Amino acid sequence: MTLIELSELTRHFVNGSDCVAALHGIDLEVAEGTFLGVMGPSGSGKSTLLSLLGGLSQPTTGTVRIDGIDIYRLPAERLADFRREYLGFVFQSHNLISYLTALENVMLPLAVCRMKPAEKRRRAAEVLERVGLKDRMLHLPSQLSGGEQERVAIARALVNRPPLLLADEPTGSLDSATSRQIMELFCELHRDGQTIVMVTHNRENLEWFDRTVFLRDGRIVEEISHRDEPTAVAAKRECA
Ligand code: ADP
Ligand code: MG
Repeated sequence: MTLIELSELTRHFVNGSDCVAALHGIDLEVAEGTFLGVMGPSGSGKSTLLSLLGGLSQPTTGTVRIDGIDIYRLPAERLADFRREYLGFVFQSHNLISYLTALENVMLPLAVCRMKPAEKRRRAAEVLERVGLKDRMLHLPSQLSGGEQERVAIARALVNRPPLLLADEPTGSLDSATSRQIMELFCELHRDGQTIVMVTHNRENLEWFDRTVFLRDGRIVEEISHRDEPTAVAAKRECA
């Protein structure tokens, strides 16, 4: 089933008298369950694409359909509900609240849910355990390593059980060993059926994706499907 459908998607930004075309006529379909990589040099439009996917921006022209829903045709209030229900976000600067524990940070997206407080705690604890932080739930962000903070951000993005997880350079500020562990976590989530779109400029991450699209100057200039990849790479991706 197709989960994401982008059609002739264009985004312009006006800076004074300049008009920057961040994206030009992007057409893309992504099947449910895909781990999609979006790569390209700085300024190529990766983050713009992700924020359009996340309902955080407005296309200049074109449509974004997620699960068949033309999201920018939704009234603002329903778009907010849609984001809560369908999307989880992980950003490079994970914006954890410094005075809240890992558990409280992860519970934040549940604030508006009609769920009992005990149920919210249980749900947040479950997802923290899922990302390997069973013993860190009551720590503050400052008491956690960079990789652990990233895991809290991933748990927070997953606590609503969103069908689509969007990640913008989630390993951008981590050393390569920690980055690899975080990619392994994303890979496990993917293996459990999570659809993920991840922006990265790190070519080493390529091996983890099912498909990668390359952007340059706001256009998709290349696409690789990794299904016919060499066995060694496939085995590595199995997160053995
Ligand atoms: P990437 O994430 O690949 O580095 P971006 O999507 O952030 O690229 O940016 C693509 C282009 O759009 C760049 O030229 C950038 O300067 C421009 N751009 C992005 N966001 C804005 C904005 N809010 N206002 C003006 N220009 C922007
Ligand atoms: Mg970016």
